[in-house]
Amino acid sequence: THIEPFLIIGNWKMNGDRELLQRFSNDIEVTAPNGCKQIICPPSVLVTTACDAFADHSIDVGGQDCSQHLSGAFTGDLSPNMLVEAGARWVILGHSERRSSYSETSEEVAEKTAAAIKAGLTPIICIGESATDREASMHLEVIVDQLEASTPETLQAGEAAIAYEPVWAIGSGVSASEDQVREAHDVIAKWLIQRRVPLPVLYGGSVKATSAASLSAIQNVDGFLIGGASLDPESFNTIGANV
Ligand code: PEP
Repeated sequence: THIEPFLIIGNWKMNGDRELLQRFSNDIEVTAPNGCKQIICPPSVLVTTACDAFADHSIDVGGQDCSQHLSGAFTGDLSPNMLVEAGARWVILGHSERRSSYSETSEEVAEKTAAAIKAGLTPIICIGESATDREASMHLEVIVDQLEASTPETLQAGEAAIAYEPVWAIGSGVSASEDQVREAHDVIAKWLIQRRVPLPVLYGGSVKATSAASLSAIQNVDGFLIGGASLDPESFNTIGANV
């Protein structure tokens, strides 16, 4: 079973430009395949351009991070309200690259999540174990600890999405196995049910057009967060066509 619609979210990271947005707008069908919801998260300076490019599409636009603060002396940061004003409806929070390169903690991710929801955004909260965690058979414990600490107490049903992204699968070209995805998603779905906050749970980590069908068929996989394969309109759209 899945929470509908199946979410297909592209994380462009520090890639893309106006020309790529134009190609997406030209090459992608106006209506998403298979009733999926498609979302593109470009670099923040392209959010407004993306909203214009997708004005006739059903594609939503999101940011890749935001501050937990609303304004003030935070050079280089972007408040959730600013993302909303630019046209974003979603925001990726706690991506493993931000956790590792900018030492973002789960507690900060929870604060950002609360601020983003208050501003009217739907956060996509990223969690996932490292290769070392998995080798030590600690992955399920790490996932639950991150889930617990990255979600604010006030979180309500449907206000956010969770993205399970095993760090070792991101950008590796090889996704986690179906059994590994099933095990993690079952644990996350159980935790959400216990907390009475049903949220869609996405898988991320080297999702491609060729793996979309089998990964999307797994119980409790309600969508994908896609890096590399979201930079090409054809592969991004084919993932939706294959779920
Ligand atoms: C990501 O960084 O969110 C991601 C899933 O990347 P990729 O699809 O390239 O592994």
